[in-house]
Amino acid sequence: MQQQQIVPIKLLRKYDRPGPRYTSYPTAPVWSDRVDSALYVETLKESSGQVEAPLAIYNHIPFCERRCLYCGCNTVITRNQDRVRSYVHQMKKEIERASVHLGDRKKIAQCHFGGGTPTYLDNDLFDEVLGSLKSSFDFQPDAELSIEVDPRVTTPEQLEYLRQCGFNRISVGVQDFNSEVQVACGRVQSYDQVFSLMEKCRQLGFKGINIDLIYGLPKQTPESFAVSLNQALKLGPDRVAVYSFAYLPKMKAHQRKILEEDLPTTDVKYELFAIAVDRFVGAGYHQIGMDHFALPDDELSIAQSDGRLHRNFMGYTVQSAPEMIGLGLSSIGYIGGSFFQNYPAIDQYGEAINSGKFATYRGMKLSEDDLVRQFVINSLMCNFHLDFSRFADRFGTGYHDYFKEEHGNLTEFFDDDFLEESDQGLAIKPLGRTFVRNIAMTYDAYFNKSDPAGPTFSRTI
Ligand code: SF4
Repeated sequence: MQQQQIVPIKLLRKYDRPGPRYTSYPTAPVWSDRVDSALYVETLKESSGQVEAPLAIYNHIPFCERRCLYCGCNTVITRNQDRVRSYVHQMKKEIERASVHLGDRKKIAQCHFGGGTPTYLDNDLFDEVLGSLKSSFDFQPDAELSIEVDPRVTTPEQLEYLRQCGFNRISVGVQDFNSEVQVACGRVQSYDQVFSLMEKCRQLGFKGINIDLIYGLPKQTPESFAVSLNQALKLGPDRVAVYSFAYLPKMKAHQRKILEEDLPTTDVKYELFAIAVDRFVGAGYHQIGMDHFALPDDELSIAQSDGRLHRNFMGYTVQSAPEMIGLGLSSIGYIGGSFFQNYPAIDQYGEAINSGKFATYRGMKLSEDDLVRQFVINSLMCNFHLDFSRFADRFGTGYHDYFKEEHGNLTEFFDDDFLEESDQGLAIKPLGRTFVRNIAMTYDAYFNKSDPAGPTFSRTI
């Protein structure tokens, strides 16, 4: 069992600052619009020779019937089935195009459907996307097929269908069980709805069942959130993600409907997060990264203990397919040492695909220095550990030689008991897990140079 650790509010206050989530390094705001469809084609072709190297695939299904007020996703609100159908046809073209350029490189180890609401697609449209993926690529027998589901709209029949299609991992959007909070968020779903959906998932044999919660939502109080956390624990999920609500009314117009006076104060928000860490670690869950938790026998906890946990845009994973193809609007891929992102707007995405190209609108080719820093940040974010000899083997130089200045900047983390160093490497201590983003920021060459007028990141807590 991981050591339980109450996170002191004064430390949350001290380290709460704008900072990246490090789902990628370098982070998206520093990518360039010079990375385009032509470079993507070239990169896919160059990587086609690695026929044994498995790939991961992310599929973005952006549609929802109505918008939750806290939503920060790239979503298209529609009931127009023609629009949905033409998007599916565009995705199929994108899948087939990627497959052609990848030549004999066909192995798929991980495939995720996110959104939006992926189950917004009816089974016929789902068949079209999945059929295209399965005929274009070669899914490995142990491939992880995962999907995000909304308990309000996903039926037992849909779950049966997904299981028959080979889906084996599922993530359920919960956010909070309190009815006042739900009304203030414009998303009402009962505990019973979530309970029966999870029961059905278990019956069907889904593994690694995840629920998403959010702290910092309107009307949340430490008392109400503690009750919601107890209800979440009663469901017995294998995994839990507890995200911070990013209130960005200037950028997300729909969030303006949330009354500012309904939001918890910053100190209350810290308390909400501290309660969540305390409840889940206290109940025996392992803290995975800053805000994810998994049961000790879940494969994420086991992989973390063995130092082989990975992280990509789909979250934490045990699959060693570091290269990923992004499909659909706003999706991100990583291949041949470069990131590629598709247009976030549905019309631009559709136009690009219909013109015979890919919909790439920005990305980044990583330099040698980027790759070194990416390795360190990923090691700390995933495994809470950096192994000095693995670093030296990989990059032909010693950690201390390369990061003399950055290592010197870790002093406050050692002083606050977040980190320890041995001859083998750096290890993040239990208290430091909550502040892993702050520690990772030490190694970010772009963030430390960025000017105050530069990109805005959500706060670390
Ligand atoms: S269901 Fe998810 S993606 Fe859709 S509006 Fe709500 S939060 Fe956003």
